Amino acid sequence: MAELPQISVLGLDRTELASLVDTLGEPAYRARQLGEAVYRQRAESMEEISTLSRELRGKLAEKGVSVGLPRIEKRFVSQDGTVRYLIAFADGQSVETVWMPEGDGGEAGDGSEAGEVAERFEEAGPNKNPKPRQGQNQGRSTICISSQVGCAVDCQFCLTALLGVKRNLTAGEIVGQVCAVLKDQNVSPPEDRINLVFMGMGEPFLNYENFVKAARLLVEEVGIAERRMTVSTAGIVPRIHDFGGEAIRPKLAISLNASNDALRTRLMPLNKKWNLEMLMAAARAYPLRTREWITFEYVLLGGVNDAPENAKEVTELLRGMRCKVNLIALNPGPGIDFTTPDTERVAAFQKILRDAGIPAFVRRPRGLDIYAGCGQLKRTVEIATAPAL
Ligand code: SAH
Repeated sequence: MAELPQISVLGLDRTELASLVDTLGEPAYRARQLGEAVYRQRAESMEEISTLSRELRGKLAEKGVSVGLPRIEKRFVSQDGTVRYLIAFADGQSVETVWMPEGDGGEAGDGSEAGEVAERFEEAGPNKNPKPRQGQNQGRSTICISSQVGCAVDCQFCLTALLGVKRNLTAGEIVGQVCAVLKDQNVSPPEDRINLVFMGMGEPFLNYENFVKAARLLVEEVGIAERRMTVSTAGIVPRIHDFGGEAIRPKLAISLNASNDALRTRLMPLNKKWNLEMLMAAARAYPLRTREWITFEYVLLGGVNDAPENAKEVTELLRGMRCKVNLIALNPGPGIDFTTPDTERVAAFQKILRDAGIPAFVRRPRGLDIYAGCGQLKRTVEIATAPAL
């Protein structure tokens, strides 16, 4: 017998759900029920969806329609509460998704000790003092999701780069990571405050259509506000231009990581194609919304890009832009030939930016003991400590 084409409900938007239900000769409200059950109740299988008649569930099965929730294959729990998930899809490929509980860096999901201050800073505006909030650590968790299996960008300090790219994730697989983690953590937006960062494995702007659709589904179906999501790009310049025109768009972060072209080309070979001049032009042309700021990420590599001169060059690059900088001291990993600068060096770099009027924050490393930190996602179980569950 010929294999049925597999259709996952996860990944279908309202229009697609409506036409699916319509082809089965079912009334339109069934589409809403199906969407609700999958995106909000996060059912794992059709049999679980008791709002649908047995007959309809049968028809869906006949058509090869399944929920499409990916499977959590492994969990690694850090001492700091961070959880790294290994999440597997129907074809056996897997990615990593990271859960960072309470007290994370708010909008940028940046895990900085000052992330929360950064968020309030943005709300207050540059010239006002951030107001303290009541109960601000209540349920402010961040999920870091992957957009590709592996990555093609080849940044020299990133473990994911060592994998190369295996394939793009579908919109359903991107959203599916979020649904699987929400279910596992037993939390539900919008009641629970969840931030999302597209900063896991892969380059979201090299899987642009699926990423954009996933962001829309996350807003419209899962109920996560746009302002709670941040996408980070290594600097795919044409897509930065496109992204500015999207109706639904998370906040934008750009991985700068170097202060001049020679250094950036060495660390991030894609700089040969899209150099700093092109990148900065795209960032300056980017249409920011009210109270929106671009975030620049800068990985500090000991003795390579962390000197005071580099900080000064960064202040020149960013002069006059509505932006902030997140500094990340390198998270080490096997096969990565760089060192982590010491705290004083990081603080000195930060001070130069701040003295030039650029808000700069230092990311607190998360989950390093389980290889869950930025740039450490490699979909390997063997390098990790013992699974917790
Ligand atoms: N491809 C996207 C998103 C994934 S990387 C991008 O490049 O932006 C998310 C962030 O982690 C980037 O800012 C990247 O520069 C940073 N990063 C990569 N490797 C790292 C490492 N070993 N230590 C600290 N940060 C790292």
